[in-house]
Amino acid sequence: MNKQDRLKVFIRCNQCGENFILRGTKEGKGTYGTGFKRCVCNNENDFNIRSEVEQPPLP
Ligand SMILES: [Zn+2]
Repeated sequence: MNKQDRLKVFIRCNQCGENFILRGTKEGKGTYGTGFKRCVCNNENDFNIRSEVEQPPLP
């Protein structure tokens, strides 16, 4: 069974300042599998990305 932490990935566009919050998994060095492709301003590469482990919701 693969151990994949579910992450909350915060993406901020460095070109227009738009923020995106996505769920994803870590795929490698500094890359995340979020399905995120590009910003609304068509920027595909210039992002500030950070992530944190998603906490399970409290009952
Ligand atoms: Zn943008």
